[in-house]
Amino acid sequence: MIDLRSDTVTRPSPEMRAAIAAAPVGDDVYGDDPTVNSLEERVAELFGMEAALFTPTGSLANQLAIRMLVAPGEELLCETTSHIARAELGAAAVFSGITTRTWPSERGLLRADDPLAIAHPNAGPYLVSTTAIAIENTHNFGGGTVQSIDEIKRLRSESKKLGISLHLDGARIWNAHVATQVPLKDFGSYVDSISVCLSKGLGAPIGSLMVSTKDRVSRARVWRKRYGGGMRQVGILAAAGHYALDHNIPRLAIDHKHARQLAEACNRIAPQTVNPDTVQTNIVVLDLSDARVSASEFAAQAREKGVSLSALGPTVIRLVTHLDVNQEEIERASSILSELLDRAFVAQ
Ligand SMILES: *Cc1c(COP(=O)(O)O)cnc(C)c1O
Repeated sequence: MIDLRSDTVTRPSPEMRAAIAAAPVGDDVYGDDPTVNSLEERVAELFGMEAALFTPTGSLANQLAIRMLVAPGEELLCETTSHIARAELGAAAVFSGITTRTWPSERGLLRADDPLAIAHPNAGPYLVSTTAIAIENTHNFGGGTVQSIDEIKRLRSESKKLGISLHLDGARIWNAHVATQVPLKDFGSYVDSISVCLSKGLGAPIGSLMVSTKDRVSRARVWRKRYGGGMRQVGILAAAGHYALDHNIPRLAIDHKHARQLAEACNRIAPQTVNPDTVQTNIVVLDLSDARVSASEFAAQAREKGVSLSALGPTVIRLVTHLDVNQEEIERASSILSELLDRAFVAQ
């Protein structure tokens, strides 16, 4: 099976497992795990920020970060199909009493004016006050969309004037960095907090970090424990994170090339499904709205032929490339998808 459902399906390599086995560990709730401590320091430093906190999931890293920026009853703005709005099961409302308002976009692409147009800071005693904006880079459901650093910069300077904080959901910030060569530190310089994932394209089995100021990270540490996320000898997982950072960032360029190849193959048969020029990183979103089959039927047909992919909606398919899919498998997947698209769009 060629598994293109997500880059979360990657399995730790033998070398990563060796790093896991060799990790020095301690009780991280006491702050005693040297591998966790060094990973937190390393990731904070990568983004030029003061501190970081290791979490089991990216959702928890996002939720801890926005909890530090937005008080109960206040408002976080995010894009309509953002992970925070769509895929965290209402956690901001359930755990933190945060309300969200969303702005729509094309492919998740950030235009600073969109959130600024709906922002309502210091709204007084009768209306909800906006206190933070969340952006996503790369944008997952938008199709691995890379955000323009100029738009981020402008959003930063305008929102700062309004006293509004900025959070970056950087689950795949590594992909944005590799695709644009924008230094990681630059991303850190325009936001108040970042979440990053080690368990997507970087190939670790688990692990994310929330990155921010010392003060926010030490308060988030208390909330992580309160949520039941205090972990003990978790250096074995942090070691996988170190290994991922040491070895798996530059190779993301290969995943990007593979995604583009898949998009080109699909576009050749059914041009309306995807424009390959919009495929900048490791995610391909196919629009099946004119097809003879639904996305879930298409996914079932692909599965039968040995390709696993995600139906994200009735007419939307997502393919994600990653380090456990090689060039030969991409070619095989391309020809299987071409055949199915021909059946869905072209052949009588
Ligand atoms: C995967 C992902 C997350 C975190 O997901 P978890 O499954 O909670 O680790 C957050 N944001 C985006 C954009 C993601 O793709």
